[in-house]
Amino acid sequence: MADSLAKPLVLVVEDEAALATMLRYNLEKQGFRVDEASDGQEAIARIAEQRPDLVLLDWMLPVMSGIEVCRQIRRRPDTRALPVIMLTARTEDQDTVRALNTGADDYITKPFAIEALMARIRALLRRAAAVPAKGRLEFHDIALDLAAHRVQRGDRPVHLGPTEFRLLEFFMHHPARVFTREELLNAVWGPDIHVEPRTVDVHIRRLRKAINGPGERDVIRTVRAAGYALDTEPA
Ligand code: CA
Repeated sequence: MADSLAKPLVLVVEDEAALATMLRYNLEKQGFRVDEASDGQEAIARIAEQRPDLVLLDWMLPVMSGIEVCRQIRRRPDTRALPVIMLTARTEDQDTVRALNTGADDYITKPFAIEALMARIRALLRRAAAVPAKGRLEFHDIALDLAAHRVQRGDRPVHLGPTEFRLLEFFMHHPARVFTREELLNAVWGPDIHVEPRTVDVHIRRLRKAINGPGERDVIRTVRAAGYALDTEPA
């Protein structure tokens, strides 16, 4: 993988010096290069200069808030696709939804376990690497247009509900990989949403019904006692 050839650069935007130091230490230990900014304006400047692969962005920052930084990142065509993970405090719970609405790809609530944050960073970098510039994902005869929110199988348009769309999108980022119900819940519904793992089965059933036309091969593989994968190989 390209990851091992060039170490990804993570920009840590955090005004608490102790936390910034802890993040730098752990990121470097995990094989990342680290750049730092301690306020929002500096963050914008560092992004323009250093072109980081991912931004860890604190919500409460002096000079310019994290949310404004995120907004500016998304507004500029050259940084629109830059992966952003927002760091929020528990008391700002309401704001987490806003964080995602402003265009953050993910968020983690302080205090967090460093392992959990590292897992989020890796997952996001993988996802970012898998998205082609056009915003179009393909798997065999299935095409998913991220911008237009459209799915086609061959020439046939496939109509999906929002959850089924996100589920298929997630699968298409990681074809052939088997995911447990819990992993799918985390990835598609989000880690803070508490729903029964069986809910996944319901949506998989709907997705299958929509995506597999008459005579077409089932592209969702059920792996007994494990979960599901986007796969055309016979189980
Ligand atoms: Ca802060």
